[in-house]
Amino acid sequence: MKMYDVAVCGGGFAGISAALAAAREGKKVILFEKEYMLGGLGTAGLVTIYLPLCDGFGHQVSFGIAEELLKLSITYGAEKKYPENWLDGVGTKTEKDKRYEVQYNAQLFSILAEKLLLENDVDILYGSYVIDVAIDNNRINMLFVQNKSGKTAFGVRSVVDATGDCDIAEFSKIPTETFKQGNVLAAWYYFTDSSGYHLQIVGASDVPEAERTGKELKPLIDKRFSGLDGEEISQMMHLSHKKTLEHWLKKRESDQNAVISTIATIPQIRMTRKIVGEYELKHTEMHTYFEDSIGMVSNWKKRGPIYEVPFRTLYNKKVKNLIVAGRCTSVNETLWDVMRVIPCCAVTGQAAGTAAAMTDDFSTLNVSELQKKLQSNGVILHERDIL
Ligand SMILES: Cc1cc2nc3c(=O)[nH]c(=O)nc-3n(C[C@H](O)[C@H](O)[C@H](O)COP(=O)(O)OP(=O)(O)OC[C@H]3O[C@@H](n4cnc5c(N)ncnc54)[C@H](O)[C@@H]3O)c2cc1C
Repeated sequence: MKMYDVAVCGGGFAGISAALAAAREGKKVILFEKEYMLGGLGTAGLVTIYLPLCDGFGHQVSFGIAEELLKLSITYGAEKKYPENWLDGVGTKTEKDKRYEVQYNAQLFSILAEKLLLENDVDILYGSYVIDVAIDNNRINMLFVQNKSGKTAFGVRSVVDATGDCDIAEFSKIPTETFKQGNVLAAWYYFTDSSGYHLQIVGASDVPEAERTGKELKPLIDKRFSGLDGEEISQMMHLSHKKTLEHWLKKRESDQNAVISTIATIPQIRMTRKIVGEYELKHTEMHTYFEDSIGMVSNWKKRGPIYEVPFRTLYNKKVKNLIVAGRCTSVNETLWDVMRVIPCCAVTGQAAGTAAAMTDDFSTLNVSELQKKLQSNGVILHERDIL
């Protein structure tokens, strides 16, 4: 049986960051990805907008791999950039103006991310669905993976759940919570027309119940999706394809050269399942000092709020060697809509991967040692250090 120090399950932005961080600590790392490209929702899902790393008032908030991947995504130029320069015009514009964010090319990013991980000696296993775990003495000691070779067991010292859906936590019977509000339908696609190649956003972005004003855009259809039921996900994909077709046919009436160039190959679902961590970070805890902070994130929807992310949001001590990252992080329902976006996934991914390289028991990890490693890799942990 093959043995790895760190197994990263899922190759979205959280998994890429975790695998990179763990490999840079000199560990033997494997990344399992069920698709055949890296980037998850940020590539195969065609969600190609790298949201701001800043607070909108001139302060960069997220650092380290979050910044490295942003720069990687626009190595050969951005599809779109707002504003043109890093931290330009911040604090001087109205709420409606965009902070620094970029739209990158999904396919190119996935190739560049793969190259980066391979250069750092990460083993990437594509087409590989992690389907179960073996637990002994409150530790995952094996992961079971299904791919073209059949079902294979891999021995692991520590595991990062970056599946976006908390699959590994669920297999491990760690307490998890599902998204009560349910997801609205999205049908983002790319098209080419006489003027070039464009991202087409179809479907309103959702607003958490606690933040509703009654003036929200109408969703494409009233039905909501959990993202955790095989039949329901397929039905959602059918509806998403139907909406894409309808949308493009309308576009074609005014431009015969309009063609659909890319559709998403994974479901565009925002929130599904997250762990109940040792700490649940709440949307009201902005500007709060946490001694065990592993980095900071801003609020993509609003200028100002800064959150320090406690290490305790990434694990539940019921299973000692499992840590989560990205959409799986322990936050309350309202903050989930903030923590799920790309920069935040990179922040939690880097911390989870670094921690996984250091220990096989997260509840006894020396957090100040973890923080020192993160700082030496460019992460700033506390708000007081950026103001
Ligand atoms: C419609 C929509 C619009 C969005 N808009 C934006 C935006 O504009 N900007 C922004 O920053 N964010 C946006 N987001 C959110 C953001 O794209 C995602 O939340 C983020 O990319 C999630 O990263 P992740 O790595 O945690 O998870 P994912 O990207 O979901 O990655 C998880 C990976 O794990 C793989 N996987 C899952 N289960 C298994 C398994 N059991 N075994 C092996 N592999 C597995 C998946 O194939 C996937 O590649 C949007 C999301 C949606 C749905």
